[in-house]
Parts: sequence; C-alpha cells; structure tokens
Amino acid sequence: MTQGLDPQLPPEIETFRSRSRLDLLSAWQRRGTDGSWQGALADPWARLHRPDWHARGLMAWPRGGQTRRLVLELSCPPSWRGRAPALARLVLRWWAAAAELRVDGRTVHRGDLFDSSCRWALPQCWWEGKPLRLELELRSPLHDDGALMLSRIEAEPLDPADPDGLLAATRLELEQLRQSPPGEPGGFHLLGHAHLDLAWLWPVADTWQAAERTFRSALDLIEHHSELHFGHSTPALYAWLERHRPELFGRIRAAMRAGRWEPINGPWVETDCVLLDTASLLRQFQEGQTYSRRTFPEWEHQLAWLPDSFGFAAGLPAVAAATGVRWFCTHKLAWNATTPFPHRLFRWRSRCGAEVLALMSAPIGTDGDPLAMERYRLEWLAATGDAEALWLPGVGDHGGGPTREMLEQLDLWRDNDATAPQRHGSLRDYLRRLEPLSAQLPVWRDELYLELHRGCATSRPDQKRHNRTLERLLREADLASVLLGDPGHCLETSGWRDLLFQQFHDILPGTSIPEVFEQAEPQWRAARRGACRRRDRALRAWLEPGGTPAQGTGAEVEPWWWAQLQPLPAAPLTLRLPAGHWSLREQALPSQPAPSGGHWVQLPSPGGVAALQLRRQRQRPGAAPPLASHDPSIVNPVRLETLAAGERWRLGNGLLWAQLGPLGLEQLWGGDHSPQLAEPLQWRRWIDRGEFWDAWDLAADYRQHPLPLHWQPGPVLAEVGPLCTRLVWRGRCGASALRLDLQLRAGCPWLELNLRVDWRQRHELLRLELPLQHPAVRWAADTSAGVIERIAAAANPREASRWEVPAISWLASQSSTGGLAVLLDGPQGVSGSTAALGVSLLRGPTWPDPGADNGAQRLRLALMPCAQGWRQAGVAPAAVRFREPCWLRPAKGSSASVPGSVLQLGHPDLRLISLVGEGQGECNGRGSPARLTVQNLSPCRQQLELGGEWEVLERIDALGGPLAAAAGVASAGTHAVDRTRVGPWQLASWRISRRGRRRDP
Ligand SMILES: [Zn+2]
Repeated sequence: MTQGLDPQLPPEIETFRSRSRLDLLSAWQRRGTDGSWQGALADPWARLHRPDWHARGLMAWPRGGQTRRLVLELSCPPSWRGRAPALARLVLRWWAAAAELRVDGRTVHRGDLFDSSCRWALPQCWWEGKPLRLELELRSPLHDDGALMLSRIEAEPLDPADPDGLLAATRLELEQLRQSPPGEPGGFHLLGHAHLDLAWLWPVADTWQAAERTFRSALDLIEHHSELHFGHSTPALYAWLERHRPELFGRIRAAMRAGRWEPINGPWVETDCVLLDTASLLRQFQEGQTYSRRTFPEWEHQLAWLPDSFGFAAGLPAVAAATGVRWFCTHKLAWNATTPFPHRLFRWRSRCGAEVLALMSAPIGTDGDPLAMERYRLEWLAATGDAEALWLPGVGDHGGGPTREMLEQLDLWRDNDATAPQRHGSLRDYLRRLEPLSAQLPVWRDELYLELHRGCATSRPDQKRHNRTLERLLREADLASVLLGDPGHCLETSGWRDLLFQQFHDILPGTSIPEVFEQAEPQWRAARRGACRRRDRALRAWLEPGGTPAQGTGAEVEPWWWAQLQPLPAAPLTLRLPAGHWSLREQALPSQPAPSGGHWVQLPSPGGVAALQLRRQRQRPGAAPPLASHDPSIVNPVRLETLAAGERWRLGNGLLWAQLGPLGLEQLWGGDHSPQLAEPLQWRRWIDRGEFWDAWDLAADYRQHPLPLHWQPGPVLAEVGPLCTRLVWRGRCGASALRLDLQLRAGCPWLELNLRVDWRQRHELLRLELPLQHPAVRWAADTSAGVIERIAAAANPREASRWEVPAISWLASQSSTGGLAVLLDGPQGVSGSTAALGVSLLRGPTWPDPGADNGAQRLRLALMPCAQGWRQAGVAPAAVRFREPCWLRPAKGSSASVPGSVLQLGHPDLRLISLVGEGQGECNGRGSPARLTVQNLSPCRQQLELGGEWEVLERIDALGGPLAAAAGVASAGTHAVDRTRVGPWQLASWRISRRGRRRDP
C-alpha cells in the first residue's frame, strides 16, 4: 500500500541541487481539447479539484481509470555539457494504476500502483546534444485521482571522487540530518524484500505469476550482486512453488542453502490476526511452522513475519510462542492515524505471561534513497538507542522486490562518508544482534490495536460467515476423528490449508476486488462440504461400530443420534427437530409444533462432548397431545403476558424477562430482576463515507450523520408456547426492508434477535446499540486467542481511539452489579463505553468491491444478562452453544452402547481449542495419541480433568514437541497434578490417548 507523497525540499538545498538536478514537471505537454499542445501542469482541473496536490506542485487528473498522455522533448542543458563523465537518470514517481515510459518510440519502463517509480539511465548520446522524445502514459486508479509526483533528471558521478560535486546537495542534507559526530557506530542492515498480497486488487491466479516474476528477478539479482540478501515469507506460497514450479523452487532452495535467500515465515499466510477464532490462529502457526521446519531444515524458524495485517490480538504472543516463535515483526502500527505507537523494539506479553520479542520494522516497499534511509535510521536510533537500522528495499504489495536501479542507488552511496555504512544480511542476523537488549526492553501487555481500518470486521459479511462455519466444521472433523480413534488422520490433510489461505489479510477482512470473492466462493463451499463429510463419516463410524444393520426399516419409531461436539456444561436444551414425538430413554420429551416446520423439543443435554440416542415417533394427523404451559416436565418454560391496553407484552422463562412494545425490546431483566437497558434497544443507521480506504475504514465522524430508520408499529405473534415464543417486527432502512424476529426458548439464558435485511444501502452503517442501565466500568470481549477486558471510560487518546474493535463471539459490559452480554454469530465490529454497547451489522463500501455488502443478509445475535459478571454467568460457553449447532442424524439402528458424555475438561472456564489425532498409529497398545489444546479463560489456576476414558501422556508445546522448546510457557513439573494444571489465561497442550476400551470400527 502506498506511502505518502514526497515532502518538498528546503530552498537552500535546492540551490545546490541545480548542479545535479533538472526538474521536468512543468515541461510536460499534453494535447488540449482543441488539439493544440499545452503545458500539462497548467490544467485547471487539479487547481479546482485537488488544491492540496496542486499546491505541492503535483500534476493531477481525475480518477476512474482515465489515461493521461504526456510528451516532452528532452535536451541536455548547455551548462551541463563538458563536465566530467556522469550518468543522468530520468527519475519518475507516479500514483497511477498503470504507467508506461517510451523514449523515441521504444518502451523502456512499465509500472503500476505499487511499482510506482523509476530511475531510468539516459543514453550517452543525450550528453552529446541529441534530444530525446519522452512519452509517458499514465492511467489513474479507479478509486483515487492520478498524480505525477516526481519528474526530474538526476546526474550521478561516474568517478567516485565526484569532481563536479554532483552529490554535494544530498551530502549537505545528510549532514544536516545527522548533526552527530562522524565515525559514530551504526549503519544499515539491508535485506531485499517484496511484500506480496496473495490477493487484493488482483485475483489469486495473478499472484502466482507475480510471485514467479518476483522470485526469478530476485534470484538473478542475487547472482549478479555478490552481497544482496533477499527475504520472503509465506509457507503457502513456497508450497505452491514446490509443487507447480519445481525448477524455480530448486533455485530458491540453492540460494537458501547458500544463506542468501531467507524464509521469513511464521504463520501459513500473512494472516488476519483479529477475526480468527483461537483454533485457526493456532493452526496458522502450527501449519506454517511445521512446513518451514520440514522444508527448510537448515534455517531455525523462530520468527513471525506479519508486516501488513490490520491489528494483532492480545493473545497472539501465547499462540506464537507455543509454536516456537520468539520474534514478532510488523510495520503496520506505523499506520496509526491518531496516537503513534510508542515502541519500535519491545517485549509483547500475553495475559498468561507468554511473550515474544517484537520489532516494529522499517517500512516495506522502499528504495535506496539515502535521505529516506537516514531519516528512518535516526528515528530508530532515537526510539531504541541502537544505531543500526534494518532497511528493506524492494517494490511491494504486488511483488517486485529490489531492482537493479535500486541496488545501483545503494551502491552509489555505500562508501560515501556522508552516509552510515551499509551491510547486507539476513533478518535473523539482525534480530540476533538485538537479543542482548531484551532484558531492558519495555513490556507491552495489551493488544496491538491498529488505529485505522475499523471497518474490516463488518465489510463483506459473507466471508466472515464462511470462515466461522469452516473453522467449526474442521474442528468438529478433527475431534470426530479422535473419538473414532482413526490413526490415518494426520495434520496436513484436512481442508485446513483451504481455510488458512482465505484468512489472508486482504481476503477475510473483505478488502479485495469482487473477482477474489467470486473465485473464493466455490473453494469455501468445497472445503465446507469436505469437512462436513469427514466429520459425519467419523461420527457415524464411532457411533455405529461395524455399521449396525438397520432394524425395522419404515418402523414407526426411528432412532436418531444427537451429539454435542464441545465440552459444554450440562443444561436443558430447547431445539427445533424434525416433526414427531421425541423420547429419550423411554421418557417422552416435551415438544411444541413449530409453524415453520418440525417440533420444538427440550432435552437434558449431558455435560461434555456427548452423544445420545433419541427416538422419534412419526406424527400421525390428530395424534399430537396438546402441551400445557405449566407442564412440569419443561425446565424454565416460556410465558407471555399481555400488559395494559394489549400494546405491550412481558416475555419470560424464569431466567430472564423482556418487556416488548410496538417498536421492539423496551426492557430486559436477568435472574436478579435488575433492569438492563436505560432506553429501548436501538437499531440505528448513519452515513459512513469520506475515508480513503473505503472497505477498510469506518468514517470516524459517522455519529454526526444519523439517518432515519422506521419500524412499523406492533409486532406479530409468530409462535407462542412454553418451549418457544417468537414475535416479528417489520421496518425499513432507506431502500432496504428489515424483519426482526425476537425469540425466547425454554431453559435458555439469552433472548435471541434475528435480523433479516435486504441490504441495498451504499456508504451507510447499520448498528445495534444497547443503552446500559448500569454504567459499565469495564467491558470484555472474546478475541482471537483469548478474552480481552477493556476500560469502559477511555482515560487517554490511545484508549479513546479504540471506538470500534473486532470481537469473535461475544462482548459483555461489567458494572458493579453484573453486566449485559451480547452473543454474536460471527466476528463483528463492536464498541463499548460506560453508557452503551454496540455492534456494527452492515456497511456499504464501494471500493475495491462496488457491491460489497449488498443482498440478503441475516444477522443473529442474543442478549444475555449476567448478574455476577461474564465469567460467573458462563458467557463464553453460552456463546459456543448459541453459535454452534448440535449434530443430529437418523441412526442406522438402535444401539445398545450409547457413548453418553465422553470428554470433559474439568472446569467450565477451560475452553477446548483443538483435539487432533497425531496419526502415528498405536501408542503402547492404547488408542492413537492425540494432541489436545485448551485455554484457561479465567484469572484462576485450573486443573484439567478429562474423565476416566482418557489418559494424559505428556505435556507438549503446540507443535507436539517437548514443552521446554516453547519459549514463554511455564515449565510443567513431573507430578501429575502439575502436569495437568493450567495457569491463568494460559494456552496449554497435552498428548493424550483413550484408555483400553477403545471401540474399534
Ligand atoms: Zn499486504
């Protein structure tokens, strides 16, 4: 992504510049509407429409892919002739989607939005008086006006002694910048780099070509430049090359073995780090680290390279450290719009105490400009006290990498005493040199919040839906394979890589062009189908060993399997099942016909991962016995009372109560009868426009631009009964129709809100706002890699900048008397303050995807009062239960051995992250070993207790290695009690296995 435009130079230095520079910007001509040639800079459009750029002397023209053709007859100035031999370069920098430079009819350079400059060497004949005809053709970006920012001739000495003083002006500027004694230690550590987005303003297929081009170019430069080192990330990209371009991969491997090409990996792709659930964030690192260790064994893999992701969750150090990562590198926090991030080099610590060393690296996409390098080095020195700065020359975003011109510019200055010395080397060498500083480094115990791009959790909701569904299906498939004891299941095969790829930092956030999402759609669907099949096959084989033959086909009573694939606490569950009379262990289950088909049924869910066999008797007409609302068999039945004048209702189930009126939810009470809302629930609409990065950014001033949203008065009672009662409101939001279903189930501690929208708005924001009766002191949310708790009243600009943050599955206010939680069906942008909680539901950005969020959208949320606080009320397991459906399938026959509850963790605050088979075959005659990863979502130590069927073999790191290898994880003792203890907020892994009574398929 682009850097800012060039600053203007001080006038005194410009005087020196005239010896070696010739500004061309005012000399370009373009053809006017009357066909005559005119000065291009004098075009009145820029003065009128981009006065900011015009004032800075830039040549600008309108956006929308418009082409600007410029010509220039270029002659050597008479005063430059007769000097010592020199090299003249045509230096151009543009902001254009495409650029082509032709000289005397021949194309000499092509570029784009990312490859946005050139330093083309003029031929010798120019010095001898032959004029050159330059033609420059530039196409403006679709989303922004185009600009020619820089256009000049620079003369460089061919004699290192520089007899004509061509470098004098730059030398003077460098000296003014440094203002420190010569001979000061320090310098530049150079590593060629090429940031390559796996998809963005181009589809994935184009990325493979860009990668191939970039890598061949980097290898050629390495061969010709004896010191150049090149570093590149992304295991997914290396794996593609290994498979599809073995010859190129072989050349890269040879350069790696020679130490000149450095894999800088970490996760499987440069992933988004705030919209993933903990299991897939962990899997990003597991997959990336496992591949890197196996494929590039001559390198140590202890760093995570994430220069461009849009913020980093507070739990990321724990996840990274568990897979052997010691260094985390990014540049993105330099993009903060309000408060600069205070550290360049620091220790980043998760809540559990695990930490990584963190480097806020040099910018990416830079060249060999000595002044830019020195400015950066001085900033680095001031921030860290260290005088040697990392510099990463190389065109980026769409690949590219270092160029010959860039290396020549670096070489021009490398032995000049006005600049700090340069050294080419690996990132690992650079980090190794910094390690002795680690004890004195500041510690950051918080998320790395990017104060920009706050719309990414809300844009393109379809990508978020696919992601959360595939995350769940893959976890369930892994778990089912372990339950089955399937030894053929290993870490690489399983659809995870398909998911991890789509989590790239411009796909999942919804910030790519439409083609990227169109091409992702069949891949999402295929991966979902594959995971579903794998899960179903394993669950069936586990539940029906030997394929129990069907009994009594067509019988009136059919057996069905119900399974819960998360270790949740025991609770009554009210579910909608296919129509019929349902029973469990010969006991009829309470049931209520559902108008949309099937029956609501309440069943006692056992705790833990569990399976039950239900029986269904197909219903015959007229055979359904009416269900009384006071039926004693129902746990916490729903009651609906009409209040005064028949315009208001009171809905409750003994766990919560809601007052409903003509315009929706007016009040909510929890078990303590304390009111939760200061005002009725609000669905609100605002203008959301005016930001440069359209799909990325919510407009910071959106609250100043409200728009109306209308509800038709009075709900319709859609269904009323002791197991489920539902009311429906309809309304309009601009041109978009709204339908809100509000539903309460028996025995359920939350009130469910289902908003269906035919979304047609552009540049608008739709939100849910909950005005809080009890002012919040703090508010908590489930984020990637753990729970984060934030102060509700911002005490400083940094806290105030977090007015919109991503949450994965819930958020909750915390007041002196408890709090109110909102359960989410997927990652969403949310907000919390003393007075209110809010959830962003839909936006309508138009760049880079013109129809991003439009179409039919369904948003599912729930409100859950939590009298004692989110943890005591069990909000985290409730959010799992709210968003993850149970597994229900007809059984092939009645089974004598029903598993019941098969896996517990021992405490509701212990969250199952993953359970994956190791595929290593039998282990000491027991079931196949599996890797279990659990996170403790509490400030107290907890003990893992799996139940009698399971045996803990050993505590491991998240790659399956001995625990000591994982930095930052407290070492486990040898006693069983220590081995299974999980510290506050800790992420912990074990190798476990089923005991002897494994059921062989
Ligand atoms: Zn990027």
